[in-house]
Amino acid sequence: MAALAALPASALDFTSPSGVTVLHVADGEHGAPVYSIDHAGRRLVEASPLGVNTLQAEFAKGLRIADADTARVHKEYSQSRIKHDTAVYDALRAVVKAVNEAGDTLGIEFSVADNDVAFRYLLPRLNGGETGAITVTGEASGFAFPAGTTAFLTQQSDAMVGWKRTKPSYEEEYMRDVPVGTPSYAGHGFTFPALFRVGDAGWVLLGETGVDSRYVGSHLSEASHEGVYSIAFPMAEENNGNGDTSAAMALPAATPWRTITLGSDLAPIVETTVTWDLVDPLYDIDVPAHNGRGTWSWIIWQDASSNMQDQKTYVDFARDMGYEHVLVDAGWDVNPGYDGTAELVRYAADRGVGIFLWFSSSGWWNDIVQSPVNVMSNSIARKKAMKWMKELGVKGIKVDFFGGDKQETMRLYEDILSDAAQYGLSVIFHGCTMPRGWERMYPNYVGSEATLASENMVFSQHFADNVEAPHAALHPFVRNSLGCMEYGGTILNKRVSRSNASGVTRRSGDAFQLATAVLYQNPVQNFALAPNNLTDAPAAAIEFMKEVPTTWNETRFVDGYPGSYAVISRRHGDKWYTAGVNATAEVKELLVPVPGAAKGDIVTVLIDTPEGSFASETRKVSRDGKVKVAMQPRGGFVIVK
Ligand code: CA
Repeated sequence: MAALAALPASALDFTSPSGVTVLHVADGEHGAPVYSIDHAGRRLVEASPLGVNTLQAEFAKGLRIADADTARVHKEYSQSRIKHDTAVYDALRAVVKAVNEAGDTLGIEFSVADNDVAFRYLLPRLNGGETGAITVTGEASGFAFPAGTTAFLTQQSDAMVGWKRTKPSYEEEYMRDVPVGTPSYAGHGFTFPALFRVGDAGWVLLGETGVDSRYVGSHLSEASHEGVYSIAFPMAEENNGNGDTSAAMALPAATPWRTITLGSDLAPIVETTVTWDLVDPLYDIDVPAHNGRGTWSWIIWQDASSNMQDQKTYVDFARDMGYEHVLVDAGWDVNPGYDGTAELVRYAADRGVGIFLWFSSSGWWNDIVQSPVNVMSNSIARKKAMKWMKELGVKGIKVDFFGGDKQETMRLYEDILSDAAQYGLSVIFHGCTMPRGWERMYPNYVGSEATLASENMVFSQHFADNVEAPHAALHPFVRNSLGCMEYGGTILNKRVSRSNASGVTRRSGDAFQLATAVLYQNPVQNFALAPNNLTDAPAAAIEFMKEVPTTWNETRFVDGYPGSYAVISRRHGDKWYTAGVNATAEVKELLVPVPGAAKGDIVTVLIDTPEGSFASETRKVSRDGKVKVAMQPRGGFVIVK
């Protein structure tokens, strides 16, 4: 890197490759550097604090900027399990060196791309190299926004509450378009990602990436009186109080990246790849990740379906749909039992269907009784089970009910992933933290829940009435933009139960449900279809669900407003899937550009109608390649071209 000796050390500007984004870094009033960001000539992030709190060195005050090194970074990579199959990353990298009163130098590394700024801390060996271990207790890192900014935030839950005391698990509702400074319900701040609308100047999406066993998962604090959100470390009560809230690191060390995606409009927010641009694979795998579609009985048929007959019915259903997998959820170790499950795996293999098996992660940090328990939490039991699964030909595991974001739990995620890689198993997490670059870091990682997912359509009429639709119109902009999301959705039952005649009443349309199969991105999609849908759901809906893919070559924002409506296009091979949902109470009439379509082409639109039914209609493409659609309240559409 070339030193920027010509610039005054007290105020440094770093400009993105095209010049559209400018990062300013300067010595701050409180003895630590501050940064601010302009994008397209507008201030999107106001002067915000930097610094890291450690037990061994003072890196949050008494710091003065000494100098900075910069370099251009260009990287291209392919990735099968995110929103694009290839990504190009161009940025200016800058390491700002800040010296404390003891003479130790903190490196603050910035990545300045056109639509993404990120930063992390580089911690040196201390005391002339004598000190090689550090305890990071928190960060001063903050995010301040111009006056009038509104926020889309989901709260950090209290710890040790909820089902079998399993929270926090990133399963809370969102506050939408609220003024900066609006408190969370629980008072513990907000989990990533967090979206901000800076009036008419643009949008900012905050996240973090590169979190592995060497750190904690962070979240955002409540806003300070000055409206500054700061990085917050895990709460002491998480994981039933076990494990520290700080991060222990061997020096020299680099902390995870804080990511700040910037856009004048929402396209960069939906299309960003910053989460993966900044990380690299941590190991190779011999067996490719098991991407694909699956069925799972638990979502509609619930615990009672943990038996051989029902599981075989779902295997047959997966075969009929042409799906790759069946997810066998909790209780399989009891019924049909280990031997019965071995028989089931062979039954499925004979029908060209693979099996994912559910495990609890716990363990000593919650009260879970759903089994198997005490397997994934112990390296000896875990590897024994994985060896059994490998010999049987099981494709992957779904591990549920983690204890929070402490480093102890981050180590467990990584240990499960790296052990599973040795046994050819892909890994889905549920009841868990959100992924932070994991699709790229861990090649056998295929999904995390970390959202209020489809199960809430079983549990809660309130969710069906008030949450399902606005969240569907939020996820492409927030949670699902910075990480894959294993939602387990697309429900075609009218009532969410085995009989399809009782239980929660679905308010959203069938086409809305199909649209979520495209809007929600996860390399494994376990759809909430039920065997009866082969005969009681619209034939065109089932045909669509038979052919919808789960991996994408390209993703484009089309239209929308977070929480109100969302339309995006994704390409798989030479086909474009354009999908939209409407969470508002009004009909949304849109002219939707259909990639690949030319004037006069006829396209099929699967759409919810004003009468509340589902239709497969044909439309002529207009001169500018657009198709007219009217999205009904809690309705949606899909177009495949
Ligand atoms: Ca859950």
